[in-house]
Amino acid sequence: MEFTTIPKIENHLHLEGAIPYKALWQLIEKYGGDETVHNLDQLKEKFVYRDFNHFIEMWVWKNQFIREYEDFVFISEAVFSDLVKQNVNYAEIFISPSLFKDKLSAQKIIEAISLSIHKVSGIKINLIVDLVRDYGPEEEIKTLFEINEVKNLGVIGIGIGGTENKYPAGLFINVYEKARKFGFRTTAHAGEASGPESIWSAIHDLQVDRIGHGTRAVEDLKLLEYLSEHKIPVELCVLSNLRTRVIHSIEEHPVKTFIEKKIPVSINTDDPKIPCGWMNRRRMNWLRSLSKSLKKSNTNRTVSRVFFEKR
Ligand SMILES: [Zn+2]
Repeated sequence: MEFTTIPKIENHLHLEGAIPYKALWQLIEKYGGDETVHNLDQLKEKFVYRDFNHFIEMWVWKNQFIREYEDFVFISEAVFSDLVKQNVNYAEIFISPSLFKDKLSAQKIIEAISLSIHKVSGIKINLIVDLVRDYGPEEEIKTLFEINEVKNLGVIGIGIGGTENKYPAGLFINVYEKARKFGFRTTAHAGEASGPESIWSAIHDLQVDRIGHGTRAVEDLKLLEYLSEHKIPVELCVLSNLRTRVIHSIEEHPVKTFIEKKIPVSINTDDPKIPCGWMNRRRMNWLRSLSKSLKKSNTNRTVSRVFFEKR
């Protein structure tokens, strides 16, 4: 069976990171081009990351071409249509409106995206607003209040992303407390750029419903056991970790350990700009062996914990 034809869900996908190259190229042209890229191939080359910092650098570079509300309508329609082509029939999509706060309001960004949610058929979309650690809790609680006003447009949860090792989860205790009171489900990027202590903090300080990435939980046996015992779902992003050099080979990813420990996991794409033809033989073999592990450990029922189902 072709991987694309298998029905799938996404628990961890960033709208701004999932813009298909052609759509991004159109935006670059709309705003007069960029001297560092002259064609689509060069654009793809630009997204081969040297390390995690380079990934962040490219993230910021790309965002300069998203300037108007109509750009959000355009990119979200492109991303949702792309997901439909891949037979993803349910997605909880991260969106970080505060990254655009200098020019655009969070509420109107959500309104723009919701237009595309209604326009694209064949997929159910919900949104998770990913707050930015680097802006700090005082700033991001304001974003939370703004988002709360438009949550009926499909916003079901909040998360935090950004520079994990500089801005610990503990800073955001009040933001998460408020978010829960507002009725949002919660997740947090943790254990991607930082170690197990960051995941512990997301669990104890933020009381998250899910963990985003959680890759480095594997460094702490007690944490793995805790995740398993409390059935805390982890949004694994295997290929993303490879591309941002959190791991150095796909076999190095601890996904099998999570499954063996009976931790509920989902496998997601995160920022699916994968220029190197990831469906090559080696990776396909890896997927096959993973699927055998899934069957053996009989964890199919716990593979996905989407927020939508629990509401
Ligand atoms: Zn992410």
